[in-house]
Amino acid sequence: MESWQRIETIARRLFRLYGYGEVRTPILENTELFSRTIGTETDIVQKEMYSIADSKGKNFSLRPEGTAPVVRAYLQHGLFHDGQIDKLYYIGPMFRRERPQKGRYRQFHQIGAEVLGSDHPAIEAEVIDMLSLFLQEVGFTSGELLINSVGDSQCRPSYIKQLKKEIDNHLSEFCSDCRRRSNVNPLRVLDCKSPSCQPLIEQLPSILDYLCHECRQHFDEFRHYLDLYEISYRVEPRLVRGLDYYIRTTFEMVDERIGPTQNAILGGGRYDGLSELLGGPNEKGFGFALGIERLALLLSDEKKVIQDYQRPQPDIFLAHLDKPSFEECLKIVQQLRSQQISAYLDFEPRSLKAQMRLANRLKTRYVCVVGLNEIDSGTFSIKRMSDGSEISVKLEAIAEHVKEK
Ligand code: AMP
Repeated sequence: MESWQRIETIARRLFRLYGYGEVRTPILENTELFSRTIGTETDIVQKEMYSIADSKGKNFSLRPEGTAPVVRAYLQHGLFHDGQIDKLYYIGPMFRRERPQKGRYRQFHQIGAEVLGSDHPAIEAEVIDMLSLFLQEVGFTSGELLINSVGDSQCRPSYIKQLKKEIDNHLSEFCSDCRRRSNVNPLRVLDCKSPSCQPLIEQLPSILDYLCHECRQHFDEFRHYLDLYEISYRVEPRLVRGLDYYIRTTFEMVDERIGPTQNAILGGGRYDGLSELLGGPNEKGFGFALGIERLALLLSDEKKVIQDYQRPQPDIFLAHLDKPSFEECLKIVQQLRSQQISAYLDFEPRSLKAQMRLANRLKTRYVCVVGLNEIDSGTFSIKRMSDGSEISVKLEAIAEHVKEK
């Protein structure tokens, strides 16, 4: 949890710097939201959603991803602004029916961000620049960025036609899923994880050879802006990312240590048609999602998990000798906390020696022993644990003294 909190804290701070506000959507959504947007022939919709029907037969699913719910919420609440870019991020659990293994879980957590309202290739590079800075700050520097363009409704059909033709030439060699996909959605063959299909997939045509002028130009400009940010990448023409709503730019950050078939730490792309698909205006969109478990896994590999985030240490430990001093401590602790001092009080009737042992274990910065003398005089002795030095202060000055030092 400490490494997760560190990852989340850095994300929240950095995303804010880039102009993103947080959005929280429900975990349960209409099943149709996902089947219509992600695509009925994708692995997610075909095999991986947890769905339930309510007593009226309406179908709901635990969200398998965050983009469609964000766009749904945005439309439902009329939040699109003409001519304005909106930037949103989310952090939360997603659910997919999987065989749990290293880096692959049925409930996992994503940090994601969406830019709504622009189709400029520079905004795509800016998102990746934000991700690079984020990964650098959390201490992950070894991933490889893969990019691709999956074309748009103008140029993709002719690619898909050619793709299907070539798949059909070797149809019997593909797995049964791919044989079905070849008929209904040949692009999804490129997502196949079956090892036996991989050499066949490598022989299939590259979508980059089929891009129309506009998509080619968009992709070139995207690459130009990545160069401007000095971000290195590799073009991977088979990166189509398993969801139907993507057009043009797609990208992934991969690291082989997670595993051969689930090596992506994060992925994203452009989804300009998604809003219209949900009955909204023609809004542009671009975003990514990052798996917290996978990132934490790699960071723990590199022993970079807990660098600057430490378990909270109390500023001051209040030790008590009997019931009246315990009750006095309760009041002091309450007052200190209201002054932003992290104060610790033990609730067991332990000996002073046992309380001091506990104070050492908690690595508290100061200790104050409260007995009858202190209560009567209103003067308290504060001991600094680092050098054993002591100072007497009035009750009102404890907070100031601890803060100052
Ligand atoms: P996707 O939404 O499929 O593009 O996934 C985006 C990121 O979420 C991946 O790169 C992973 O880091 C993470 N992810 C996806 N599925 C899982 C899963 N079943 N278990 C853990 N992490 C996952």
